[in-house]
Amino acid sequence: MITVQEAIDIITSRVKDFGTEKIPLDKAMGRILQEDLVADRDFPPYHRVTMDGIAINYEGYEQGLRQFSIEGVAPAGAAKMTLQSSKGCFEVMTGSILPENTDTVIRYEDLLLKDGVASIEVPHVKKAQNVHFKGEDRLRGSVVVRKGRRLSAAEIGVAATIGKSMIEVSKNPSATIISTGDELVEIDEQPLPHQIRRSNVHRLQATLSALGLPTETHHLKDDMEEILRELNEYIKRFDVLVLSGGVSKGKFDFLPEALNKLGVKKLFHKIKQRPGKPFWFGEAPNGTLVFALPGNPVSSFLCTHRYVIPWLEQSLGLPVLQAPTAILQRDYHFRPDLTYFLQVRVSYDVKGRILATPVEGHGSGDLANLVDADAFLQLPRGRDDFHAGEPFPLFFYR
Ligand code: AMP
Ligand code: MG
Repeated sequence: MITVQEAIDIITSRVKDFGTEKIPLDKAMGRILQEDLVADRDFPPYHRVTMDGIAINYEGYEQGLRQFSIEGVAPAGAAKMTLQSSKGCFEVMTGSILPENTDTVIRYEDLLLKDGVASIEVPHVKKAQNVHFKGEDRLRGSVVVRKGRRLSAAEIGVAATIGKSMIEVSKNPSATIISTGDELVEIDEQPLPHQIRRSNVHRLQATLSALGLPTETHHLKDDMEEILRELNEYIKRFDVLVLSGGVSKGKFDFLPEALNKLGVKKLFHKIKQRPGKPFWFGEAPNGTLVFALPGNPVSSFLCTHRYVIPWLEQSLGLPVLQAPTAILQRDYHFRPDLTYFLQVRVSYDVKGRILATPVEGHGSGDLANLVDADAFLQLPRGRDDFHAGEPFPLFFYR
């Protein structure tokens, strides 16, 4: 049995590079950017009017003019127009290009428009007001987003504005999620009294899909022959297998033996932790990685968030960020010589510090309790008593 840190180190040693691919921008949300996003034009690309109103040449105003005859209208989308006289003005709209010979915009709310003349009705007009100047935000050729970042809506907006209809992102590994167990039925079935629905694979699939990795799911009966036959095929077909169940000490927990028979090298089995102790991790001769998670829903959930996701994120090119710490809100006692991942509800105090209130539940089978909690607080091995007010690393799953 190894420690949490040893498990992390072993998994990190198997971080892989799956290359890059170009995909449509509309499919890129959540993916990891693998090209710098460079401004193809200045941001904004022209002197952009930011208020509906009139554009004037400030010189006229400085010389005392407060009434300007309207020379024309410049809607957004119209090519640049030219003001002929500093006694004149153009009606302009938000998003229109500032007419030549103008430099200042006065909004309609501060004007009276009558008989083709705009009169200023406010005491002060500032030169260059209400104009978003060309290149003020970013210059053409500058890198607006560096590669290596997860695409959020903010980056998608920038990519769209520079015309990236196709975008280069990290290629996903091909992955599949496989449940094991004769007690499991499909979620649209009515289970018999001794059966349950295979919730783990749906939860896993949702987790990976939210990270931009679509997966299929499969199921294996607790039958050695079937497991050997099918796993062999999955190993050939996928870069990553995420298995659920069948790795503990039970009579029908065939996976460790089956994986061994198939030549998958065991990198570890069992971590000094609760929940999730029976986690098995290995690598097939062709490089396929096997994350064989325990079947208990909370164990499987913890292992997904503490081990599978960090592996995936690093393989896609994201850095590992240090977990934030949260302050335990009441004394907690945990005796076994294991790292304990305590389920906690998260809140914040007036100073913005993260607070962690234990929400214990009924152990690793209590998946409903995950709904009441927000995160796991990692309580270290080697001690039994944890005190209110102490900070510990927090693994947020929402
Ligand atoms: P195992 O690791 O196969 O011994 O399973 C441990 C516990 O987790 C058992 O109570 C199983 O019924 C349950 N379990 C296994 N797989 C799943 C699954 N896909 N969804 C929900 N519960 C599961
Ligand atoms: Mg089982």
